[in-house]
Amino acid sequence: MAKTPLYKPDLVIVISGPSGSGKSTVIDALCKADETLRESVSVTTRKPRRNEVDGVDYHFRSKSEFERHIAQGSFLEWAEYGGNFYGTLKSEIVAAREAGKDTILEIEVQGALQIRAQDLSPARSLFIFIIPPSFAVLKKRLRRRKTETESEVNKRLAIAKSEILEIKHYDYWVRNPQNAVQEAVEQIQTIIAAERSRIDAELIETINPLLGIDKTD
Ligand code: 5GP
Repeated sequence: MAKTPLYKPDLVIVISGPSGSGKSTVIDALCKADETLRESVSVTTRKPRRNEVDGVDYHFRSKSEFERHIAQGSFLEWAEYGGNFYGTLKSEIVAAREAGKDTILEIEVQGALQIRAQDLSPARSLFIFIIPPSFAVLKKRLRRRKTETESEVNKRLAIAKSEILEIKHYDYWVRNPQNAVQEAVEQIQTIIAAERSRIDAELIETINPLLGIDKTD
């Protein structure tokens, strides 16, 4: 995905969607296709699933370590989901900016709303909600992956229904079709490309020097 030559990374791209909507797969594909996107690694008190690696999928921490982060003000946002805690470290946004990248946050709705309420300047936020093809598909996906017990799956389905009602707080929605992840990926790439081309006050102020136009021209 190309950036305009004048583009400076300043986007915090918040992606939410019900558990089982396929957002992790979509985000992995997005980051693979565009090295200027960096996915933030969240802190969670949830136990790692098989194949999940500490520091890669999440920073897996105890409840008391999580509470220490809260007390120290290290989180940009945090929330409880399905009996576990999840939070985004402020340092993740700084790390992305220092690496010259935009940040992707894969977070649930309560956390997204906390970010919505904040002024992130010099960064800006963009909110995308991923929906599954249908609720029936969501149920099937959650049960088939066998990473949660039946009661945890039911809890996630109940949360999904309430999360879908919060779509009104997002800027864009993207449907993740069955067996066609690439379609969702391309739609999000288009949204990000448009956002990167937004004209803002900083661009207006710097357009002449950036193009090498001076008073003698
Ligand atoms: P899971 O247990 O399936 O990995 O994640 C459960 C939910 O927590 C998902 O909706 C996921 O997007 C969300 N989540 C992951 N990391 C964070 C975070 O840092 N903050 C918030 N608020 N939600 C998160």
